[in-house]
Amino acid sequence: MTYKLNGIQLNEFFARVASDKKLYLPVDTENGARFEEWTEGKTLSSKLNTVRSAKDFFFPQVQGIVDFKLEGKNIEVIDRREEVKDFVVFGVRACDAAAFAVLDRVFLSEHVDSFYAEKRNAATVITLACSNPEETCFCSSFGIDASAPGGDVEARLVEDALYLSPLTEKGEAFVESIKDLLVSADDAVVEADKALIKAKIAKLPLASLKPADLRDKQLETFESEAWAELSQSCLGCGSCTFVCPTCQCYDIRDFDTGHEVKRFRCWDSCMYSDFTLMAAENPRHTQPERFRQRFMHKLVYFPMNNDGVYGCVGCGRCLKKCPVSLNIVKVMKRIGGVKNEQ
Ligand code: SF4
Ligand code: SF4
Repeated sequence: MTYKLNGIQLNEFFARVASDKKLYLPVDTENGARFEEWTEGKTLSSKLNTVRSAKDFFFPQVQGIVDFKLEGKNIEVIDRREEVKDFVVFGVRACDAAAFAVLDRVFLSEHVDSFYAEKRNAATVITLACSNPEETCFCSSFGIDASAPGGDVEARLVEDALYLSPLTEKGEAFVESIKDLLVSADDAVVEADKALIKAKIAKLPLASLKPADLRDKQLETFESEAWAELSQSCLGCGSCTFVCPTCQCYDIRDFDTGHEVKRFRCWDSCMYSDFTLMAAENPRHTQPERFRQRFMHKLVYFPMNNDGVYGCVGCGRCLKKCPVSLNIVKVMKRIGGVKNEQ
């Protein structure tokens, strides 16, 4: 069932949603689009996607875990876990929604990460179909459909009218909570919009890029001579990992404030020379080895261990952000018999 806003403006819709729960949505800033809490006067970003991905909602860059206070011979352990209230995220694109499924496989598998799980449970994700996909987008390479982005509620803007299709129980509950703002929508409009988006995606420069199935070619791919050349200009800055919606590596550190010790976790990057540094040594000594690890993980190891699901969703952020124009597309084109029919 699809609904449509009954003659009200987007901002009235946002105000109503925000009157019940915190609402986050992409807004334009001088540094590009970013998710912010909606308050009166904020408008939906005009950009296709945010600079940083929506993974921050569930896996923030820095997360306080526990504090330790030493008093005499006693150590007080202070749990820093905060109550997570239900919230709504509007405007998540198909790539980022698909990235949640990748992160779920990591954080909600055998050992459930309770920090992540609490936030995932508290969130209602309203996705937004990509009316104007960009040249750097290649989500379709990984079977992601930007015209039907998933989440709890699938939203689309057609001629400035907002259409909402609930997909999960949470989505149904959300729609029920604002039912007085909605009328039933014509499914034909939705289908026509999907067809239009698919046609646009088929014309994108990377539309025919397909990842090769390298699960049985692990050693061959690992030993490829192409890594040395591909990684030659990598600066090890880690930008590609920090903007990536599927990168999930983190470190746990202690910070001594002088009064107490704060234990927190923070994003880490496999591109850094001290990544997974152990007392004996670092398992990867050179930047080419670190570069290879990043892409072997996304294109070989992750699918090997996750039913063929790749660790990339084709969001294109690393194509835009790498200062020396290295990215996963270049790797896919060189490593392992990738099919690019264009
Ligand atoms: S590797 Fe690049 S294109 Fe793929 S999900 Fe990460 S940032 Fe996006
Ligand atoms: S690939 Fe690019 S963005 Fe990633 S670490 Fe190397 S230089 Fe930085």
